[in-house]
Amino acid sequence: MPGFELFGDEERKEVQDVLETGVLMRYGFDQARKGHWKARTFEMELAQRLGSAHCHLCASGTAALTTALAACGIGAGDEVIVPPFTFVATFEAILAAGAVPVFAEIDETLCLNPDRLEAALSPRTKAVMPVHMCGAMARIDAIAQFCAQQGLVLIEDACQAVGGTFQGKALGTFGAMGCFSFDPVKTITCGEGGAVITDDETLYRTAHAFSDHGHDHIGSDRGLEGHPVMGLNFRISELNAAVGVAQLRKLDAILKTQRAHKKVLRDALATVDGISLRVLPDEAGDSATFLSFFMDSEDRARQATAALAAAGVDGCFYWFDNNWHYIRKWDHLKALRSCAPLTLTLMADPPDYGRIFLPESDRIMARTLSMQIKLSWSADDVARRAETMVRVLKELGAV
Ligand SMILES: *Cc1c(COP(=O)(O)O)cnc(C)c1O
Repeated sequence: MPGFELFGDEERKEVQDVLETGVLMRYGFDQARKGHWKARTFEMELAQRLGSAHCHLCASGTAALTTALAACGIGAGDEVIVPPFTFVATFEAILAAGAVPVFAEIDETLCLNPDRLEAALSPRTKAVMPVHMCGAMARIDAIAQFCAQQGLVLIEDACQAVGGTFQGKALGTFGAMGCFSFDPVKTITCGEGGAVITDDETLYRTAHAFSDHGHDHIGSDRGLEGHPVMGLNFRISELNAAVGVAQLRKLDAILKTQRAHKKVLRDALATVDGISLRVLPDEAGDSATFLSFFMDSEDRARQATAALAAAGVDGCFYWFDNNWHYIRKWDHLKALRSCAPLTLTLMADPPDYGRIFLPESDRIMARTLSMQIKLSWSADDVARRAETMVRVLKELGAV
């Protein structure tokens, strides 16, 4: 997830175009902007790159998720099935919509297990929101099939997986809408930003309006525009979009570097007993932002985490103890600590997140380590890292 590693002349040039006109808004100012439409350009190029009919940028990935839920008509009392291994934004957006996150088990893809969705169904289930974690895909074909059979809306949180594919088709294009984030630690960044993509023109128009106070964006006078719906302000600024335009044009080069680095490390790990790799439903479509692997027990995973850090192998995450990414440490959710009462507290039988039991996910996450793949590594860095990892993990195995 190297967006923050890149800021070069290309990014500076795009931002400079905006600075020279002083038009920081994505809409209007047609004369003053001298032909620079950074948000529009980013949207057109991203839609084309991902093979989606429409793309709409938002102020963040969280705003994109919120916009997608709204456009798909998901709100008060609706249940949305989500994985317990994600970033907190996934459930935050659902709660903010007035809807109810329902957690289902993950499998060794580190994403929602399609075979455990049925157990999470209720008469109130409206949608499934799989998260393509750490750069790679869920078993999205089976999840999409389940949604179609059950008449559920599929919204993909592809915030960590831009450029990833499953059987050649871009992640984010399998359901009604796909969501992306371009925050500073994502594969490409624009400082802060996000996007929704869809093939459905009505969803696109609704998302467009919702994320800008309900404006229909018809005509040239904002004050005279119609408001098909009420909305909010989740607009991206032209300055942010400008950075994104430059970064998107580097995406293919980024993926190529990540995949090359990851291959060296993965091949090295394959020589160590007692380690297995994350299951990838389509290895060719992995965006390769992380190398994730399983130790054979929680103890071994904790020992490996400590030993790798001690040996100077940085950027290895043990998510089981992480406050942001796994439900075990989401104490604020478990206690429902919100600024103001949430819609779900009005339900007759609200969920008790303090009592959720996800033994399969716990067993997997307790054994999982993920190493971030960086763009700035040289071939020597990668070779040395692979060597150190193998040495450290083999020593561990000999104990
Ligand atoms: C980063 C991220 C988001 C939210 O994106 P922001 O742009 O930081 O709001 C949502 N879901 C996942 C899985 C993410 O990793």
